[in-house]
Amino acid sequence: MDERKRIKDGDLVLPGDYLGVIEEYFPGEGVKEENGELYAIRAGRVSIDPNRMEISVEPVTDTPPLPEVGDIVVGRVIEVKPQAAIVQLVRIEGRENEREIATSKLAGIHVSQVKGGYVESLLNEFRIGDIVRARVVSNEKSPIQLSTKGADLGVIYALCTRCRSPLIRRGDKLICPKCGHVETRKLSSFYRKLKV
Ligand SMILES: [Zn+2]
Repeated sequence: MDERKRIKDGDLVLPGDYLGVIEEYFPGEGVKEENGELYAIRAGRVSIDPNRMEISVEPVTDTPPLPEVGDIVVGRVIEVKPQAAIVQLVRIEGRENEREIATSKLAGIHVSQVKGGYVESLLNEFRIGDIVRARVVSNEKSPIQLSTKGADLGVIYALCTRCRSPLIRRGDKLICPKCGHVETRKLSSFYRKLKV
């Protein structure tokens, strides 16, 4: 094998940089294996876990952190298209006191990722202005992809589409206390139970 620069913990790497061979390390996050060789798939800092013999590439965080796959995020629906709802991310739940993220960061919820059952129209699941709680399923490409599958995921706050009053949950429907309008959403079990 040809001699290549030996990668050390903390090295900065770019996508495509050679990191080592599969006999040395297990590929962790930000690392791909190709014919037994390991390469960075993102720019960042090399992190070697000597106990697990795992090498990963951690994004350099001088910019607001990017949500990672599996993170639970909260965001506001800004557009509902036939195939996807577009969400502006507000925060990442859980880690380090709910990290703030770039408010301009957009994410998509594809129609296939809304819920387990069939979605006839995305407008029955989300409306502009809704606050949703969702899981990150992909962050490799922009926009980040989210899923609201699961009882705890989905809309956590919604306004009446007629009069903009906050809607109240009644079973699996939402009712406007002001004008009586009945609406549907892909609801989270946390509907109106989380700060928005
Ligand atoms: Zn209303």
